[in-house]
Amino acid sequence: MHRIYNFSAGPSMLPMEVLNRAAAEMCDYKGSGMSVMEMSHRSKVYDAIITDTEARLRSIMGIPENYEVLFLQGGASQQFAMVPLNLLKNGADYAVTGEFSGKAYKEAQKFGKVHLTATGEANHFTRIPSQDELVIAADSDYLHICANNTIYGTTWPYIPQVDIPVVADMSSCILSEPVDVSRYGMIYAGAQKNMAPAGLTVAIIRKDLITEPQPITPTMLNYGVHAKAKSMYNTPPCYQIYILGLVLEWLESIGGLTGIEKINRNKAGILYDYLDNSSYFTPIADKGSRSMMNVTFKAPTVEADEAFVKATAAAGFSNLKGHRAVGHMRASIYNAMPTEGVEKLVEFMKDFEKNA
Ligand SMILES: *Cc1c(COP(=O)(O)O)cnc(C)c1O
Repeated sequence: MHRIYNFSAGPSMLPMEVLNRAAAEMCDYKGSGMSVMEMSHRSKVYDAIITDTEARLRSIMGIPENYEVLFLQGGASQQFAMVPLNLLKNGADYAVTGEFSGKAYKEAQKFGKVHLTATGEANHFTRIPSQDELVIAADSDYLHICANNTIYGTTWPYIPQVDIPVVADMSSCILSEPVDVSRYGMIYAGAQKNMAPAGLTVAIIRKDLITEPQPITPTMLNYGVHAKAKSMYNTPPCYQIYILGLVLEWLESIGGLTGIEKINRNKAGILYDYLDNSSYFTPIADKGSRSMMNVTFKAPTVEADEAFVKATAAAGFSNLKGHRAVGHMRASIYNAMPTEGVEKLVEFMKDFEKNA
């Protein structure tokens, strides 16, 4: 078997421990005589899986009792419509700090009055607006932010202090460090970066925010319907939920979110330290807004960027090409990327710099 260091922004690496366990349990899950993919979502065996996964997520993230945990489909992108359909009554505030928050802002406009809280467009989304720069409309029901900007490699270094609930897209940073859930009205995340394979979206919503949605809301986009049915209104993404359970067990084994945060800070530090000291490569995001999960950087010229990406691929590092919106390079170093992968990449970059 040959595994490479995969720096993909998503779907991305899963821990080897999880892949091995899934492989071992694939054909006969705990004596059931079938795989998790093949069993009824209403069976006793499966009920234990989904119940256990939710309990582990609640425990590891410290999700308070007054929050629902929903296992949904449609990706984080479906939440761009689901959030306003369910939460927008009078108006909503959206901070645009990159591609996904821009998409969410645009989608919400279909469902009501939407106010632009702040935008990072003028500085090419290289930094997150400060608290002073956030202007909230008087009648907004919530403020939507994208906590970690996967494409631009920036992260909100603070939780906005506002009088309305904060709704955060945490697709690319959930489970990477401890988070005070009680400071958010809602958190949602597509699974394929830090949780599980694509196909599962986790939504964590304060129960009092789940009220009558807008009248046009399709049944499948109604949080209340999914909450009442305990994520079993229809067939949930069964296998992804099972893998999330295994990922959570793996996180528990390495010290939970404080354990993984320490590893992640060190990992990102290795790469940023090198970038800060390199006379060849330059980090793109502002220092105060840097992401611990997605590191964007560039070489002196576009041609050098291309040569570097080509050389990394030949050396067994994959997916270091930046998103087409930014260009240059991006190393996504989610939870499952081992420290060794980042160390090896930095060694490679040092050699590349020396020979340039
Ligand atoms: C990947 C990503 C999305 C899109 O997720 P889908 O599951 O593909 O819809 C949205 N927001 C953020 C922050 C992401 O990283």
